[in-house]
Amino acid sequence: MTTTIAPRRIGVRTALPALAVVPLLRYAIAVHAVADDQPWRAACPCGKPLWPNAIGPSGCCAGCGVRVGAPPYAVEAAALLGAAGLAVSGLGGFALAAYAWWTAAMIVLAFVDAAVMRLPHRITAAATAGFLGLLALGGPAAAWWRAVAAGLVLAAFFGVLAAASRGQLGWGDVSLAVPVAAALGWQNWTAVYAGVLLGLGTAAITAITLRRLGRLTPGTSLPLGPFLITAAYTVAVWS
Ligand SMILES: [Zn+2]
Repeated sequence: MTTTIAPRRIGVRTALPALAVVPLLRYAIAVHAVADDQPWRAACPCGKPLWPNAIGPSGCCAGCGVRVGAPPYAVEAAALLGAAGLAVSGLGGFALAAYAWWTAAMIVLAFVDAAVMRLPHRITAAATAGFLGLLALGGPAAAWWRAVAAGLVLAAFFGVLAAASRGQLGWGDVSLAVPVAAALGWQNWTAVYAGVLLGLGTAAITAITLRRLGRLTPGTSLPLGPFLITAAYTVAVWS
């Protein structure tokens, strides 16, 4: 009896909070997925405010039907997958809260970067502050300091790469390195190496494959954020 009921309870307990925060994530994505020289978006081009008109699973404005947010059902799928990983990760208490906050912020960053090749510093900063703040309330001090050290080391490393690559690696990627490495570093240093290598590796393989297929024109680059975020989540939460 219990064997059939327990997984379903875990499923409901995981899916409901995930789906409850999705409108907020959709709203944050729609606000921030604008080009570099544009102000943050507050309304649909038709004039209707984004909240509550453009937070549904379709991503379309309730007023005019134009899509102003992330692709249909994509944020919903990401949130459910993210929550499923957290549910089976074995994390609890403040660590679970910290990684849940981190996952929510990373979903927003991944969709914004995929849409406009941009990683807004305010979201990266909120991700880092919430993650480290929640872990400071509970959890081993050694792991907390390792998370901080990993964030600083990877940001310094990415900073050097950004300066050397002249635009191939953006400053948004440099600031993303802090929460990405912190989430990996709280686990251990091996996770930092594994997560960063996995992220850079999958990004490189994808770029090479798309170039071979003619889907990525020479001179253009892929957003690195979604690869780093997916890799860091996979290593930090699923492993
Ligand atoms: Zn509209």
